[in-house]
Amino acid sequence: MSTPIAKLTFWGVRGSTPTVDPVTWRFGGNTPCLDFLAPDGTQFILDCGTGLRMLGNRWGADDSVRPTKTHIFVTHYHWDHIQGLPFFAPLYVENNEFQFYSFRSKFLGRDSLRQVFEAQMALPYFPVDFSAMSARRKFRELSGGDTFQVGENKVTARWLNHPQRCLGFRIETPAGIVVYATDNEPGDSALDKNLRELAANADIFVNDAQFTPAQLATTRKGWGHSSWKEGVNIAREVNAKTLVLFHHDPDSTDRVVDGILHAAREEFDSVFAASEGMVITLGAAGEPVQAHMPGSRTSLRREAQFRASVSGLTSDGQRFTEETTVRDLALQGALISLKHSPRLQSELEVVMETPGADGAQQMRLRGYVVRLESGVEKGTTAVGVVFTD
Ligand SMILES: [Zn+2]
Ligand SMILES: [Zn+2]
Repeated sequence: MSTPIAKLTFWGVRGSTPTVDPVTWRFGGNTPCLDFLAPDGTQFILDCGTGLRMLGNRWGADDSVRPTKTHIFVTHYHWDHIQGLPFFAPLYVENNEFQFYSFRSKFLGRDSLRQVFEAQMALPYFPVDFSAMSARRKFRELSGGDTFQVGENKVTARWLNHPQRCLGFRIETPAGIVVYATDNEPGDSALDKNLRELAANADIFVNDAQFTPAQLATTRKGWGHSSWKEGVNIAREVNAKTLVLFHHDPDSTDRVVDGILHAAREEFDSVFAASEGMVITLGAAGEPVQAHMPGSRTSLRREAQFRASVSGLTSDGQRFTEETTVRDLALQGALISLKHSPRLQSELEVVMETPGADGAQQMRLRGYVVRLESGVEKGTTAVGVVFTD
């Protein structure tokens, strides 16, 4: 029997409101949406923020065949978690079927999520009539104490501490356990316990990291969000293997998120900052999970060849230095072919020889690994770097 593989893709990672500010492009500006493909082929979508539109645009365009039925889990009804729904193209295709899971809000009453759909598409807020959404939709209300099977996978839902309530989800698959716990604030003992039960022994623990520990203790206390520090503490306490910092503040620039990630990596080995387009693959037992960033390299392409010495950290934490040729170079970054596979979001130093008026000059650049895909030559990795210094 082959190893079961599960794939978690991040389509939206920003909290509260989408951002289009260029200083947030590297981690991404769309609001929460994840897509999780379980080993048995069951497809899950976690939250319907603006990232859902991007997922809809890629639906059926990639190599994997999408099942006609998809299970969509909505954590709560704040704008940033539902705003992508009217823009999700597969909802307008007749043969598709979507099973939605959410909860009955005391502010909305019966069929809360169906009401959200109708309200979002009501005149004058949206130009397309509700009836144009021809995919089959079913709605299931959860109570926050639920455990049930979806295909071969066991799903658990629990309440988290957030204004007007929020559900956290745990999905147990033959390839491993994924926990999605966005929008939660520490400080309520019963709900803190729920979060720990959800996250116990998780292979991937996605947790709210909107604020810094200092903000959380002062100006942002009571806003319903958490910090990288809380995530690290919980991950340690309940033996979660990999922590993903999620729901970045719209005012956090890429540099701020770099700083948050750096602080978390000082205290916990396997941490990633959620980034639009990031894919985490589960399934190799005993191995640290691998995060990849496949994507278009066209924005980086420019014909040039520079000899370079590249040093960084591999995905299993080893230092390396390697001589290579940089072919695609732009002002902000480069695409570099390496025999080593550096860790996604790790720091890389690139020393390049560039031709100048007075002969060859050395250029020393520091940056972060933002993309990883298989290289053109066998056994190589194409590494996308964004230069920050
Ligand atoms: Zn949110
Ligand atoms: Zn919220």
